[in-house]
Amino acid sequence: MKHNFGAGPGILPHEVLKQAAAAVIDFNGTGLSLLEISHRSPEFESVLNEAVKLVKELYEVPEGYSVMFLQGGASTQFALAPYNLLPEGGKAAYVESGVWANKALKEAKFFGDVEVVATSKESNFTYIPKDFTVPADAAYIHITTNNTIYGTQMHSFFDSPVPVVADMSSDIFSRKVNVADFGLIYAGAQKNMGPAGVTLVIVKDSLLGKTGRKIPAMFNYQVQAENGSMYNTPPVFAIYVSMLTLNWLKAKGGVAAIEKENDAKARVLYEEIDRNPIFKAVAAKEDRSHMNVCFVTENPEHEKPFLKLCDERGIVGIKGHRSVGGFRASIYNALPITSVYVLIDAMQEFAEKNK
Ligand code: PLP
Repeated sequence: MKHNFGAGPGILPHEVLKQAAAAVIDFNGTGLSLLEISHRSPEFESVLNEAVKLVKELYEVPEGYSVMFLQGGASTQFALAPYNLLPEGGKAAYVESGVWANKALKEAKFFGDVEVVATSKESNFTYIPKDFTVPADAAYIHITTNNTIYGTQMHSFFDSPVPVVADMSSDIFSRKVNVADFGLIYAGAQKNMGPAGVTLVIVKDSLLGKTGRKIPAMFNYQVQAENGSMYNTPPVFAIYVSMLTLNWLKAKGGVAAIEKENDAKARVLYEEIDRNPIFKAVAAKEDRSHMNVCFVTENPEHEKPFLKLCDERGIVGIKGHRSVGGFRASIYNALPITSVYVLIDAMQEFAEKNK
């Protein structure tokens, strides 16, 4: 058995994979593969409607927001957010909390002025910058709620006089959020929601259509929303698997229930890192992510043998990102706490052997 701590694409529930595999052969008794059915068929329309309904239910999305399943990954949203929300000659504020935030702000520069209100670049993004004022003349402020590479997460949000745009790619549906606090939420599906190939976008309708610029249809949130994510052929498989995963989450008790589980997984793992003399956490304590747990060995010579031990224990995907080094245990929604205990056992065994 493998314990998948990979950062992205991340782990999906086993029962979801089984259902998805069966649907590839015969989708709901239609005699056709999910990959062959028309996206305009009633069967697929009900999948898409169900997926949208589940997003609205799980996040209690208020009236006045559109939920869309688009393509191009979160990286496309780095550009589409300013394309749709930043007026000609306007300014957007960005919190630079990691490489993804940096990529997002670079794309915004194609559309207007960018003010980086805070950065933690000088520390290689080991903390969430909190000391900033949101400029009241900005069209929006952009944040990254969880920094996948560095293992930092925003555990509280701030009052903002302007709409908040949030990249939630790596903590979507992992904890409760108040959607009404955000103007735009986007997330590539492939960490906590489904396979790569679909991106969730939740946008407040009243913010749209105000930039004064013409936006090509595929990049235009209003067009996509009016067409119910079906302006062109949607990524049928990715939407179906996302729907199954959201259904799985609902059956588990929804976002509040998974948040509890995620907190418990993070707590036991950080406790072990803090207690174990071999390992040390990378992120500032108050900003530690409950999704991506980054840690290093005090002695660099311990890195390779610990990776080898992990491999022997079926622990996969734990090597840290090259810009941080060490290890990154991604403990997304579908990873059971039993897998975290397997990792903890390996850490304890390694410490025992290397006393
Ligand atoms: N934003 C965050 C926080 C991410 O972790 C990632 C990918 O890991 C991205 C954006 C880029 O996502 P995509 O590959 O879907 O473009």
